[in-house]
Amino acid sequence: PTSISSSLSRSRGPFASLFSRLRSDAGVDPEEWTRLEETLILSDMGPTLAGEIVTELKRQLGKSPSAEALRGALVALLESKFCEGPRQLQFSPNAKPSVVLVVGVNGTGKTTTIGKVASLLMREGRSVMIAAGDTFRAAATEQVGVWASLTGVEVVSGQPGADPASVIFDTIEHARAVGSDVVLCDTAGRLQTKTNLMEELKKIRRVAAKSSGEVTEVLLVIDATTGQNGLRQAEVFHGAAEVTGIVLTKLDGSAKGGVALAIESEFGLPIKLVGLGEGLNDLAPFDPKAFVAALVG
Ligand code: GDP
Repeated sequence: PTSISSSLSRSRGPFASLFSRLRSDAGVDPEEWTRLEETLILSDMGPTLAGEIVTELKRQLGKSPSAEALRGALVALLESKFCEGPRQLQFSPNAKPSVVLVVGVNGTGKTTTIGKVASLLMREGRSVMIAAGDTFRAAATEQVGVWASLTGVEVVSGQPGADPASVIFDTIEHARAVGSDVVLCDTAGRLQTKTNLMEELKKIRRVAAKSSGEVTEVLLVIDATTGQNGLRQAEVFHGAAEVTGIVLTKLDGSAKGGVALAIESEFGLPIKLVGLGEGLNDLAPFDPKAFVAALVG
């Protein structure tokens, strides 16, 4: 099965060759510091964070540390950039159902993630219902239906073009009536009309808060292969929907992974789950230490 370690091999390559060039008996020279900064940028951390990391390492270690000292300090510093937040999905101890809104740009893997999370929660013994809240795209409702039939989860969908907030509200009330534990809500992710989408998400959040369920998570799905675009998406969606956690998808693909660190350190949003493939079981919890080890090697 795909693991974070095997998926980040593309990023690990440059780090491995950097460290193998550094002889342990000689100190790191200025050219190698530049190469380290480039390697951090190439892993998709972004130039700002990469610059900060190099400055901080120089402050800690002086200008010419040994390769071994550099590697140890780099690993510790990268680990410290991840946030503290709970990485487990949160559910309400009292209210039923707990409501999980899933937001993000089309194509990032929102619907697939909903199928995977439904399957995960069912394996944990929770009853799940899905609200097909992307009423804008007929294909989205169909796609949710496919995942639902694979997992055996009930989907509630509205008429094409129906108000997404009311579809989600109705699903929550229905889930309460039949005693479901969790409602997973799909939402629209069209990029062209961003302002309306953000207003729509705000409304969904307001209306869901008035339902008899409790919104315990707003998960933002980000495609790791889009690199630094993910940062901008985090900013825009967090502003509109008060995101509680990130699902970073497609880490099995050509993703270089460094964007994970940039999102966490810039927005303080924990990555709760990672997508490692297209199948129902290709979802894993996120472990920062294992991630750094996989990245730096
Ligand atoms: P949505 O538009 O955000 O709902 O995106 P979809 O769930 O339809 O996914 C878009 C495409 O990405 C589909 O082809 C999925 O199979 C694929 N996909 C989703 N998650 C992953 C993942 O973790 N890894 C890989 N390799 N593909 C994924």
